[in-house]
Amino acid sequence: MKKSILKTLESKIKGEVHNEKYFRDFYSVDSSSYQLIPQIIVIPADKEDIIKTIKIAKKFKTSVTVRGAGTGLVGSALNNGIIVDMKKINSVKINKKSAIVGSGILKGHLDKELQNKGKFFPPNPSIGNFCSLGGMLGNNSSGSRSVKYGSTVDNVKEITFIDGNGKIITLPKNKKIGEKIFQNITIDDKKIPKTSKNSSGYQLKKVTSNKETHKIIIGSEGTLGIIVSAKLNILDIPKKKILFIIEYNSIFEAAKNSQKIIKTSPSTLEFVDKNTLKNIKFDFDKSTKCLLFIEYDENISKSEKELKSIISGKIIQKLNSVSDMEAWWRHRDSSLHYSLKSIKRELRIPHIIEDAAVPLDKMPKMFSVLKKIERKYKVKMIIYGHIGNGNIHVRLISNRKNTKMIKNIAIEYFNEVITNKGTISAEHGDGLARSEFVRKQYGQKNYQTFKKIKKILDPNNVLNPGKIITKKSTIVKNLEKC
Ligand SMILES: Cc1cc2nc3c(=O)[nH]c(=O)nc-3n(C[C@H](O)[C@H](O)[C@H](O)COP(=O)(O)OP(=O)(O)OC[C@H]3O[C@@H](n4cnc5c(N)ncnc54)[C@H](O)[C@@H]3O)c2cc1C
Repeated sequence: MKKSILKTLESKIKGEVHNEKYFRDFYSVDSSSYQLIPQIIVIPADKEDIIKTIKIAKKFKTSVTVRGAGTGLVGSALNNGIIVDMKKINSVKINKKSAIVGSGILKGHLDKELQNKGKFFPPNPSIGNFCSLGGMLGNNSSGSRSVKYGSTVDNVKEITFIDGNGKIITLPKNKKIGEKIFQNITIDDKKIPKTSKNSSGYQLKKVTSNKETHKIIIGSEGTLGIIVSAKLNILDIPKKKILFIIEYNSIFEAAKNSQKIIKTSPSTLEFVDKNTLKNIKFDFDKSTKCLLFIEYDENISKSEKELKSIISGKIIQKLNSVSDMEAWWRHRDSSLHYSLKSIKRELRIPHIIEDAAVPLDKMPKMFSVLKKIERKYKVKMIIYGHIGNGNIHVRLISNRKNTKMIKNIAIEYFNEVITNKGTISAEHGDGLARSEFVRKQYGQKNYQTFKKIKKILDPNNVLNPGKIITKKSTIVKNLEKC
């Protein structure tokens, strides 16, 4: 069976087809702690190759999972069937207000091209240059600037993708499919997270008219279609920016103060705890527990005045030169790296509760919940993230072999997140870590809508099965050995 699918692919695909062990090993992992060994890897040369791959997979009853750069943190791009690596579909065309990109283009490549024209694409995951646009679209990624500019879903005009039948579709242009999707969206609003960003489930609330049907594909983790290209909104690079670094001697105080700071319309409002501080060469006060990174990219002097009138922490840096700002941003963007550096491999608990968000006024409460979990399960934590969106990344430190404890922590934390109108994932997606919690997050009615949409676009469940819609528990299965 395996041989004949391999032979069929090899005879039909213009790009590359692999099933050598080192290829299967390479594509069995990403930046999460999971491992799933695929059967075959296809590196398509063009969209026809993707169409053929899906049709062949359907015929041979196997799955197709699309992969960008593999920097995802929850195993969303891992699966057992065929992996499609989009790296060769990487065209870019820049217009005045939009860029049309092949989904395999790396963010760093796009940023350079845009910069040469004085433009930028606002979503900015801390992984920086290394992720692909396809992965950002797949996860509905965001980053520090999302307090002002929103997530990927808020910055895209059009998507061209191939569905689970191997049909190429452009939304919102394709009125027939768009209408079908739009008509099937029924929402139980009470169960929708009330957060400023969200990457769990399908983005039902973003599809408010026939003109926005493409948004259902964004954040769908390759389960509804393989995105070939996207038309992105681009903006002029702001002429001036100012960055304030503010120290606090209590994380609760920083969280409380953030509720006032957000009203001054910053372009970033970020949080790092003591673990990141340890890695910055600066003479911090001994009592400093955390920092906020607050940037403005317009109305600079008015914003500075407003900020100074409301902050309860101490400004330790006011920066306006590009190189100084970049140096401090490097520390914020390295928070995950610093966390890995400081924890022994066997104590690194997989990313599971690393990406929840709650409405900002619930942030102090969530810090209390985390403190309670710390005491109850005798774990340690490193915390950083996009506090302006109520989105904090939590790295747990304890025995990673204690999978029962990991699952219990996730259940307890997600219950609190959902009760507080939050989302279990604000930017990294559901993947293998959280898909089993999607039904609980959204309730029966919204979950049924997810299933209807999946049925329209991928009736045979060929595309990335087991993600977002699943009955299986995968949270502590297939963990990489260490
Ligand atoms: C150090 C570090 C920092 C990070 N910081 C952030 C952050 O600040 N904000 C943030 O949002 N994320 C962050 N991430 C997570 C991750 O890097 C991003 O979500 C990134 O956008 C994923 O891109 P990728 O190309 O690596 O995707 P992959 O990991 O390859 O795939 C991610 C998902 O997208 C799907 N996908 C990929 N290509 C396509 C396509 N063409 N069509 C449809 N679906 C597709 C995949 O199937 C998978 O479900 C971070 C990760 C690391 C390691």
